[in-house]
Amino acid sequence: MTTVSVMHVSKSFDQTVGLTAHTVLAVDDVTLTIASGSVLAILGPSGCGKSTLLRLIAGLLVPDRGEVLYDNVNIRDVPLMDRGIGMVFQDGALMPHWEARRTVGFFMWLRHREAEVPERVARISQITGIGLEKLLDRRPSQLSGGERQRVAVARALVRDPKIFLFDEPFSNLDAKLRGQARVELKRLLNEFPVTSVYVTHDQFEASALAHRIAVMRAGKVEQVGAYHHLYENPVNLFVATFIGTPTINLFAGHAGEHQWQGVNFGGYPIRSDIDEGASVTLGVRAEYCELADDGVEARVGQVTPLFSERAQLVEVEARGESWTMQLPLEAAVGVGDLVRCRLKPEGLLYFDPKTGRRIG
Ligand code: ADP
Ligand code: MG
Repeated sequence: MTTVSVMHVSKSFDQTVGLTAHTVLAVDDVTLTIASGSVLAILGPSGCGKSTLLRLIAGLLVPDRGEVLYDNVNIRDVPLMDRGIGMVFQDGALMPHWEARRTVGFFMWLRHREAEVPERVARISQITGIGLEKLLDRRPSQLSGGERQRVAVARALVRDPKIFLFDEPFSNLDAKLRGQARVELKRLLNEFPVTSVYVTHDQFEASALAHRIAVMRAGKVEQVGAYHHLYENPVNLFVATFIGTPTINLFAGHAGEHQWQGVNFGGYPIRSDIDEGASVTLGVRAEYCELADDGVEARVGQVTPLFSERAQLVEVEARGESWTMQLPLEAAVGVGDLVRCRLKPEGLLYFDPKTGRRIG
């Protein structure tokens, strides 16, 4: 198995918009390690550099600076055919005129190992519970979107890859199919623990499939960690707001007498080295907001039940601020009601609004 190391890698592109040419720094000094057999998700908004980073990891793009190592060997020194990469793209990228059988077996045929293909296909079918064999005589035009992506995953896996790279492979599928495909892939990755990098803009997909998640913004990796770590311990406002549904509540405020003071809430102790009067943003996730008789009075604007979690999301408003609370389904609240809210002290996160950095 293979450990992948990305060391201070940068890549920029020249772009021409109208008559002006400019340079886009697509990947900006990224350093990451993907431990042998583990799955890393690269998560971030569209255009942040995820696909570029994946292509650098595959060696399909050459970095301007820095290097990519597979087990301490620079991939520059490994010929493309020997890198052992299985890639799955958003659109499957199947050969349009080939039956799936030929697509799936092509690499093994090149290697004179096509005899191994049927057994591997059978194994993949067995693990995923889909009848892959049934799909093998069809061309891409005779396959649904979901089936095409399954063939693309099988093609990548049949060749016994050392590294498995995915670029938003299920993003064109509808929600139900996406869920099924994710479960099948999870089973495959459990059964064949190949070092994998999974690019997605969907935090749910990232948390379901990956051991660790790298959150990217504008070419940079902002934070790497398990989902719950990013959720509970974001390093900055970007990660705090990107991770978690509903979005974390933010309250503007300032430091005064070593306490945080805001419009509605306040009086919470903060780090003693924060300057008196400094602006400080408070972040609180919905499940750390609760009803309390001595709490802040607010009016209910919207109620959304979350039946699977036996909870409801209650959006409230007071003095120009609004926030979302996650309350038990049993709590009797309706639109227009006045409720009293409290923030649980263990869920308070503080940020410097100028830099976005976490400060407590
Ligand atoms: P993502 O996959 O996160 O949506 P990309 O890696 O595709 O982001 O793109 C990152 C940035 O680099 C974008 O600004 C994009 O326009 C630019 N970019 C990517 N590939 C090229 C290219 N081949 N030529 C010019 N600009 C590119
Ligand atoms: Mg992309």
